[in-house]
Amino acid sequence: MPKQEGRHFLQIPGPTNVPDRVLRAIAAPTIDHRGPEFARLSKEVLEGLKVIFKTQGRVIIFPGSGTGAWEAALVNTLSPGDKVLMFETGHFATLWYNMAQRLGLAVDFVPGDWRGGVDPAAVEVKLAEDRGHKIKAVAVVHNETSTGVASRIGEVRAAMNRVGHPALLLVDTISSLASIDFRMDEWQVDVTVSCSQKGLMLPPGLGLNAVSDKALAANKSAGFKRSYWDWQEMLANNKTGFYPYTPATNLLYGLHEAINMLLEEGLERVFARHDRHGEATRRAVRAWGLELLCTNPAEYSSSLTAVLMPAGHDADALRQLILKRFNMSLGTGLGKVKGRVFRIGHLGDFNDLSLAGTLSGVELGLALAGVPHQAGGVGAALAYLTEVAREAGGGKSSASAA
Ligand SMILES: *Cc1c(COP(=O)(O)O)cnc(C)c1O
Repeated sequence: MPKQEGRHFLQIPGPTNVPDRVLRAIAAPTIDHRGPEFARLSKEVLEGLKVIFKTQGRVIIFPGSGTGAWEAALVNTLSPGDKVLMFETGHFATLWYNMAQRLGLAVDFVPGDWRGGVDPAAVEVKLAEDRGHKIKAVAVVHNETSTGVASRIGEVRAAMNRVGHPALLLVDTISSLASIDFRMDEWQVDVTVSCSQKGLMLPPGLGLNAVSDKALAANKSAGFKRSYWDWQEMLANNKTGFYPYTPATNLLYGLHEAINMLLEEGLERVFARHDRHGEATRRAVRAWGLELLCTNPAEYSSSLTAVLMPAGHDADALRQLILKRFNMSLGTGLGKVKGRVFRIGHLGDFNDLSLAGTLSGVELGLALAGVPHQAGGVGAALAYLTEVAREAGGGKSSASAA
């Protein structure tokens, strides 16, 4: 690859851009993972993550990807042959379903058109029909990274409570944690699955489970064989700040710094920033005359936007042109929507000007690739950002008052 001027724009919805502060933290010398300095670090990280997950439960950090954390959630709470309810919201929900099948769970996989999220009414109907309480878990993806649809987890929980069903609620928050509001305890989520390389702004390499008391109780009788992913060994070692095997020490330095950054900004402001960038992006897409994949405004994702291409135009050809000409990576269409959509990641270490640059790259690409569209998407996004900044007092009046 020839050298390209300026920084690469990594606007896929994960891995995301790693802030310089986190990169510097990771660059520190590796320490003894059985020494006192490490124990201090790991206890601070585990406490900090509870704030991010909004839970008083236990948090477990595995060296691994998000897929490993999916497996850990299933094998620690369930037994072979157990019935599980899942929803086809997109590619990631399908992959988690495939894993559950391979492990030997009996999954009721409710079909979907990849343009909406988990329907809380459907959860209610399925659970109400299950009078014998055969369904042991409802496993859903909070933010479907393949479609840009965010399911309403609070409403899914409310549906479960309305029918008084005791199933565990397992939620994948891989592309929502630290970007879109997620309330583990308030929504009585039993296992939250996440990982390092999306909203947490780290490189790939850490898989996370946050675990409720009810999930810990289920763990006692869960019949799956497990070793590397076993919670009990991890929790026993974590009590003193240690791990049953070598942790990803330098990624934990990075995680410590990332948590500091998120808490300095304030979680609610982090969410508001993502909401603003999601809305600005959708305004750009509409101004271009293109269509959003997500059809339900109550389920728009604030961490990424999936855009449908006009018929006869290939999303990957557009992405390739934008990469080559403008040094920006956009997300490819996954699974069923391959070639038909491209995805704009606007999560993690990202601000108004990174958004303006990203959308400019898309608008330039659309023009050069000959994709039918109207100009003015960037302008529409900037107009919205201006409006929000004015309302927040970022305009003339506050400057003169200062
Ligand atoms: C990225 C992603 C995954 C997969 O995580 P890996 O780290 O690639 O294993 C799973 N679920 C969602 C929603 C994701 O965005």
